[in-house]
Formats: sequence, structure tokens, C-alpha cells
Amino acid sequence: MSNLYKLLQSRFNPDRPFIFDANGQLTASYRDLDNASAQYANLFLGKGLLPGDRVAVQIEKSPENLFLYFGCLRAGLVFLPLNPAYQSEEIAYFLQDAEPQICIIEPGKLAIYRQLTDKPLLTLDNDGLGTAADNRAVMSEKHSVAETAADDIAVIVYTSGTTGSPKGAMITHHNLIENGLALQAAWEFQESDTILHCLPVFHVHGLFLGTHLPALSGGAIILLKKFDVSQVLALLPNASVFMAVPTYYTRLLEAKISEQHCRSIRLFTSGSAPLLLQTFDLFSKQTNHKIIERYGMTETGMNTSNPLHGPAKAGTVGLALAGTECQIIDEQGELVTPGKTGQLLVRGGNVFKGYWRKPEKTLEEFTTTGFFKTGDLASMDEEGYISIVGRSKDLIITGGLNVYPKEIELWIDSLPDVIESAVIGIPHQDFGEAVTAIVIMQPSGNLSEQIIISHLKKSIANFKVPKAVHFMDQLPRNTMGKVQKNLLRETFNQAKS
Ligand code: AMP
Repeated sequence: MSNLYKLLQSRFNPDRPFIFDANGQLTASYRDLDNASAQYANLFLGKGLLPGDRVAVQIEKSPENLFLYFGCLRAGLVFLPLNPAYQSEEIAYFLQDAEPQICIIEPGKLAIYRQLTDKPLLTLDNDGLGTAADNRAVMSEKHSVAETAADDIAVIVYTSGTTGSPKGAMITHHNLIENGLALQAAWEFQESDTILHCLPVFHVHGLFLGTHLPALSGGAIILLKKFDVSQVLALLPNASVFMAVPTYYTRLLEAKISEQHCRSIRLFTSGSAPLLLQTFDLFSKQTNHKIIERYGMTETGMNTSNPLHGPAKAGTVGLALAGTECQIIDEQGELVTPGKTGQLLVRGGNVFKGYWRKPEKTLEEFTTTGFFKTGDLASMDEEGYISIVGRSKDLIITGGLNVYPKEIELWIDSLPDVIESAVIGIPHQDFGEAVTAIVIMQPSGNLSEQIIISHLKKSIANFKVPKAVHFMDQLPRNTMGKVQKNLLRETFNQAKS
């Protein structure tokens, strides 16, 4: 089967619940999803859209948002989710690059879009109400799912890349099916599962993992607009699965999450950014649950996961998923030995088709043997467990020697009174780059630059010891919880090192 929606349709029971709201009310059954997505397909096809046309969507999260997504999949249209936070210059770039045939937007953005495009505009507000919902409601609920080819594009997601202009990752029906089935098997998703969903749906984590896994198994979703710590604590007992980015776990720990809150949960997962060891440990202590850390990216979907049964190794992102091959190579392109750090490459049905209208960029990012260069630095142990050491562009080269920020961050994080840290390289006259640490200290902590530096000098080679340590109240993070090292570099470039 090559259309993801067709596969879902063959698996879910129309009578089963699909979405619940935060009050426990059933918002939509699978029959409702099937009918509403058919109406969206008919609406777009009626407006003359053809398979392969892009549907840009810049709206808040709502059940209607998901109906729209599945409507695009079943019609063979390309769903193009955009972060609602994007403003006019960013929107202009995406419209000019992706050339969508129609845009579904928040009513407040109509004026901006009218200036940027002459294509039809429909609206959906925060509650999923608007002209898009009105127009689809009068359409027929009969629609035969489009016969897409396996490598037809299902979704374009622009990567959040910290340098250069964003690139549209072309993700195919085949990618989504392969990755969905591999994860469904690895995490044993069942019809009886209910996922508490508080991730955004303009990113692959919340859009693909958070909706495909329940839909592939006919399970249910409790759909929250966003992460709200007290709402999550109140609703966890109604769910069996919780997917999160690491910052959600730190907030839950601060809010004193306990075993009692987690009594019905069988699976906690974390990804999109590194999970600190101390978060993993504290969470196990406080809740008696281990967090299953997995690793993926926009271009590849999920590549690895710690196993559900068997050892979950804290600090690693686990083993390659079924159907995904992971290799780690050195600068000469040779496979590294276990424990050594190198460039992580991945190959498999989960790996995207390429960057939208950027064939040269696509070519650059693949090896001749078809592996995608993730840009992540990693190591693999004897048993195949992978640890992510950082982004290769974050690698610090100081006096000609390589310093992996993650290694230094782990040393700093292990000091009492440290909540977390980020290590960056900033330009330095003699060394090229100087290792620089930014540390978040416990409010009661009593650390200084000198204390941290002298501690580290006892443990690690001198060239790895930060030349300067700065303190901040919190690290800058994007919506997916990733530390924005580019912002830190901008902030501390001028500081002494
Ligand atoms: P994105 O394409 O926005 O999902 O970002 C993908 C990047 O997030 C990866 O290339 C990694 O650098 C990072 N990432 C995702 N999951 C993890 C994880 N579990 N641990 C460390 N980094 C991660």
C-alpha cells in the first residue's frame, strides 16, 4: 500500500475514539476523521488542486488541523506545515520557495498573506473554526483515497537549520509508512493505547509520531493545545503513552511528578534534543519509570530508539530501528571502531527524498552509497547503542584539537549545584576557537568560574577545559527544546575568553 492514509484506513475501526479533549470529551471518532478528511480532500480537489500541489498550513493546533492534514494525505496533496510563530519575511520565503496552491491560515494573518500571494486563502482559528472548516463541512464525505506512488511527497517540512535559509525536506508516503510501522512495532502500540499529546504539530515529532502511531494501531489521542504542566499532571492518569521533549520532563520533575501520576502510563519517550542523564535518573527515582530516548530528525524521521524491553542505556539514543542502518565514519570516510566519535550516517526507508528544489544540496548531503549525512557526531558501543555527541557544526577546534561540547557539558553537569550547561567555541586569536562554557546553577549554588575551571582541570585534558565560564538563568531554547547555540555564540562572541 503506498498511500499512508489508505494504510491507516485499513487498520482503524471507525467506531473507536480518535481524539479526546482536555476535559475527557470525545471530540472525534475514527469515522469522524474519515468523513472530515474526505471533505477536505473533496474541497481541495474541487478548487482544482492536483496531486503534488502544496497546501500551506499556518495555524494553531486543533482537531480540525489534523483532519486537514489527513485530508491532504488522502488526496495526494503535499501538506506544508508552518510554525504559527513565523512572521511576514519568513512567510514570504516559504511561499516563494514552496509555491503552495492554497494557504490555510489564522484569521489574524490574512492581511500579511494577501500581500504575499494571490492564491486562495482559508482560515482556521485557535479553536479550529473558520472558512476552511465551514467550506469543508458542506462537502461530500465520499472520497476514494488517491493512488499515490510510494515516493510521492506527502509532507514538506522546512528544517529549522541554524545557518543558511531553511530547506524543505520532501518526506514521502513510503518514508512515513516505513517509519511508522517500525516504531509501532518497537514501542508496541495497541488499539488500547491513549497518547497524551502536547507537542506542536508543525514539527515531525508531534505531527508524525504523535498522530501516526495511534492511527496505525487505532488508539486514541488526548489532544492538548500545548504543554501545560498542571494539565499534563492531571491528565496523565487517563493516558498510556506520553511523548515529550526533554524540557517537558524537567518541568514535570520541578512540579513533583510522582508514581501516582504515572499509574496508567506504559511508555514515556523523549527526543528532539538530548535528555540529560540527571533528568533520566531523577525521573526513574521519582516515578519508577524509565524514559525511552529516541533520536531522529526532520529529514529521516526516527532512526534509533532505546528498546522497550531489555536495557535502556541512559545517555544513549538506543539502537537503530528495524529498516534503518546507522554508520559512524571518520574524516577519511572509514568506519570508526566502537566508542570512537565520528559523523553519523543513516540509510533506510525512513530517509527523505531530498530537499525541495535543491538538487545540489541534496546530492551534497548523501554519500555515493546512499547514506544521508545527519550532521550529528556520534559514537556506537560494542552492542550498537548510539550516543549523540553534538552537531558537527558545534564541534570546537581549539589549537588544532577537536573538542566535543557534549563531553565537557557532561563533566560540568556532574558538578554539584549545576543544573545544566552548554559549551561553545568562540573565536580566539591564538587558539582559533576558545572553549567557552555557559552554566545554569541551582539558585542556592555557590559556584564561580574559578571553581568550575579548577574542578575540570583535575578531570580532563587542559585543552578541553573552558577558557571562560559564564552564568545564565536559563539556556535559550527553541520550541522543540533544542539549545540555540547560535544565539549563545552571538551573545558571548564579544565576551572575554
Ligand atoms: P529536527 O530536524 O528539528 O528534528 O532536529 C534534528 C536534530 O535534533 C538531530 O539532528 C539531533 O541533532 C537532534 N536530536 C534529536 N533527537 C535527539 C536526541 N535524542 N539526542 C540528541 N540530539 C537529538
